This record gives sequence, structure tokens and C-alpha cells, in this order.
Amino acid sequence: MAEPTERTPTEELDALRRTVREFCDRELRPQARDRDRGEVYPAELVPQLAELGILGSGLPEDLGGAGLAYDGYRAVIEEVGAADSSIRSLVSVNVGLVGKSIVAWGTDEQKQRWVPGLCRGELGAFGLTEPAAGSNPSQMVTKAVKDADGWTIDGSKIFITNGSEGAVTMVFARAIVDGEDRGVTCFLVPQDSDGYNGTKIHGKLGLRAGDTAEIAFERVRVGDDAILGEVGGGMKVALSALDNGRFSLASGAVGLAREALEVSLRYAGEREQWGSAIAGKQLVQEMLAAMHVDIQAATGLLDQAEAKLLAGQRATLEISTAKLFATEASVRCADRAVQVHGGYGYIDEYPVQRLLRDARVTTLYEGTTQVQHLIIGRILTGVSAF
Ligand SMILES: Cc1cc2nc3c(=O)[nH]c(=O)nc-3n(C[C@H](O)[C@H](O)[C@H](O)COP(=O)(O)OP(=O)(O)OC[C@H]3O[C@@H](n4cnc5c(N)ncnc54)[C@H](O)[C@@H]3O)c2cc1C
Repeated sequence: MAEPTERTPTEELDALRRTVREFCDRELRPQARDRDRGEVYPAELVPQLAELGILGSGLPEDLGGAGLAYDGYRAVIEEVGAADSSIRSLVSVNVGLVGKSIVAWGTDEQKQRWVPGLCRGELGAFGLTEPAAGSNPSQMVTKAVKDADGWTIDGSKIFITNGSEGAVTMVFARAIVDGEDRGVTCFLVPQDSDGYNGTKIHGKLGLRAGDTAEIAFERVRVGDDAILGEVGGGMKVALSALDNGRFSLASGAVGLAREALEVSLRYAGEREQWGSAIAGKQLVQEMLAAMHVDIQAATGLLDQAEAKLLAGQRATLEISTAKLFATEASVRCADRAVQVHGGYGYIDEYPVQRLLRDARVTTLYEGTTQVQHLIIGRILTGVSAF
């Protein structure tokens, strides 16, 4: 069940993009503003995302996925990211962080138990961050205590995407065996377990339609078969998951930036001041050109990451580089899009203010921009500056 390494033929990739874009135009874009305004979770869209194969887009066919290679997966995420980042986030976590991790680290039983469900819309969540352990997850205090029949998990997580509307959460906890801390370990915890309490967080700046939850674990029981990877091997699982997650996030950020440019080009062509379209004003063109340059540069960095992933190689440096640049570029592009729209960009008649608010989190989660600098710096120098 290795990742497909063949590049997807260009015509197939184009057709895939077209199909997903048509779906986004029909099903996602029209209600994106209302979902954003009302913080409405897109429950009714989940079956449709599953039906079209989006929820299993980067997962193997024999487990119910669409079997796309990294290039096809990237195209899907970019299109969904252009339409609605709340939904892109839901998909990225389900496929990139959870599905791909279970495929990479799971036993056959774990793969059969969880991956087909993820593809069908029984969503997965990735529970790493804790109230006092964000950029440094190894500071986590959630613990899983071993006894004769299994494990008891106590603790809490915060900001967990799909954490209250999903079926399973990858929970990272310190494994305590015979009173000894054996290190961070990943457990696959059903969200309907007794003692699993996921509560949606409201009042976010962006991703307002998304399920971002805080989770309390009160004596949650799981068996040995819930361990993903090895006891004490949780950080390895987390870091490989984050490589996949950041690739996906960077792809979504490019989609968002592209949308910001497309709507700005349209608006600049229609809006007239001083008797002509603002598209003909040099300083407006400067903003549009800067957006284009950002998008092209982010795309080039993603191409480098994708090439390594398609070659079956680790790509942490290329992925962190692309994540850092693409997410910062998406904030710049969305901000410029608001500027191009003038006062109209400040109200949600146009999508650009949502794009700006949705872009803002991308430089924070899955490792902040500062953390990406430190990852890149550590790889370049061999010295950790965390
Ligand atoms: C909408 C949303 C969805 C999320 N989804 C998930 C999810 O699904 N699963 C999950 O586990 N987490 C998730 N997160 C959590 C996210 O990954 C964390 O918020 C992020 O890692 C930062 O951690 P923190 O918020 O605790 O900030 P902190 O770690 O407290 O950082 C605060 C500031 O200090 C800086 N900083 C920290 N350490 C250093 C250092 N060594 N050197 C320089 N600067 C430093 C940071 O860059 C940042 O600017 C989500 C967050 C949000 C907002």
C-alpha cells in the first residue's frame, strides 16, 4: 500500500481539477458566506464530499479511497481551498493528517477498521495540541496509563479540527507503564468513547464553518490495538503526519491565494473610477502583479515538494519551505484582494474578507511560521534553535 509514485497524466489532472471545480462552484461557493456568517458546520456536504471521492482523495483504492498520487491530491485540495477553507481544513485533516498516517503506520486491522470510514465521511481528527503545549507538543501532559486490560486516557486537547463531529481522533498522550513515562504515544480513539467530550469552539476569526474543538478525556478506555505505531513512537507518527498535513495546507493556501487574485481581477475589470476600470491604474496593477508573483512562487515551491514525494522521498525541508511561503503568501494575497476591492472588500458581499480571515490561521496551525523557520534552519545547519 505504498503511495503511488507515477505522475498523473496532465489530461487526467486537468479533468480532475475541472470536476472538483464544478462541484465547488455548484455546492461549496454559493453558501460559503452563510456558513461563515452563521458558523454553520457543513454536515450536509460531508456525504457529497465522500461521494465525489474528495474525503478519500489521497487514500488507497483498496481501502475505499480515490488512489490519487500527491499531484492529484494537491489539485483536489487546491480547488477546495479556493472555494471554502473551512471545508478544505476538514478534508486536509481527514486525508493528510489522519488517513495517510493510518495507512503509513497502522496494522492491517486498523487500516480496515478506520480508513474506509474516513473515505465515507466518518471523519478523522488529529489531537496533538494541548492548552499548555502548542509549538512544543513534547510538553504535553495528557496521559495514557497501562493496566492489564488496556489503557486509560486522561487529559485535554485544544483547537482540534473535526474533534467533535468526527468518528476517530488520533490522540497523542504520554504512555505510563508501571509508573514509568514511556514517551508520547499515538492512540486511535473513537469519538463516541465514554469519557470523550468534544466541544466546538466558537468565535474564531476564520474557518468559522469548521469544527474546531476542545476535547476533555475523562478515563477514556482503549485497548492495545488502539496504538498507532509503537509505544513511545508517537512523535515520529506526529512528525510524518505533519509533513503530509503541511503539504496539503500549502496546497490549500495556493488555492485561496488564486481565488483572491481571480475575484480581484474580475472586480478590477468592472469597477470604474475616474472614468475607467481600476484594472488600468498602475498601482492596482502593482497589487495584482504582486499577487500573481506570490502564487507562482508558492506553486514552484510546492512543485519541488511534490517531486520529492512522488519519488517516494522524505521532503520535510521542501514541505516546510512551501508551507511557510504559501501560507504567508495567501495572507498577503487576501489582504491585497481586500485593498483592490476598496470599501466593498470590507463587507462580505464579496468573498475577499472571508479569504483574509481564513488565510490568517494558515500561518499559525500545523506549525507556526516561526516554527517553520526553525525547522528549515535546523535542517540547513544541523543545530536546533527551538
Ligand atoms: C483553527 C485552528 C485549528 C487547529 N487544528 C488543530 C488540529 O487539528 N490538531 C492539533 O493538534 N492542533 C490544531 N491547532 C493548533 C495549532 O497547531 C497551534 O495553535 C499551533 O501549533 C501553535 O500553538 P499555540 O497556539 O499553543 O501557540 P504557541 O506555541 O504558544 O506560540 C505562540 C507564539 O510564540 C511563537 N513561538 C513559540 N515557540 C517559539 C520558538 N521556539 N521560537 C520562536 N517563536 C516561538 C509562535 O510562533 C507564536 O507566534 C489548530 C489551531 C487553530 C487556531
